[in-house]
Amino acid sequence: MFCFKCGKKLLDGESYCQNCGAKAQDYDVLKQVQKYPLFKIITTITIALVILFAIYGIIIALPWILLVLGISIGVAIAMSIMKNRKKQY
Ligand SMILES: [Zn+2]
Repeated sequence: MFCFKCGKKLLDGESYCQNCGAKAQDYDVLKQVQKYPLFKIITTITIALVILFAIYGIIIALPWILLVLGISIGVAIAMSIMKNRKKQY
């Protein structure tokens, strides 16, 4: 493993470069992404799918929320009308 900043060879298990102090992990992550462009594509697809499912979920749930809200408002209005009628008699 080599330092991504200065290129000095790092010993196994070394987390920081002894020459410049750069983190060894940063290079590992960078190397992985460069080595596997699929990783980037899969990450992008996963994020896109999560967003799509979230939108889909909202679209599916919204009519039900509106239905429950409409019924409760309707019942509340009906109850208040019935109460008012009872008062009149
Ligand atoms: Zn270095």
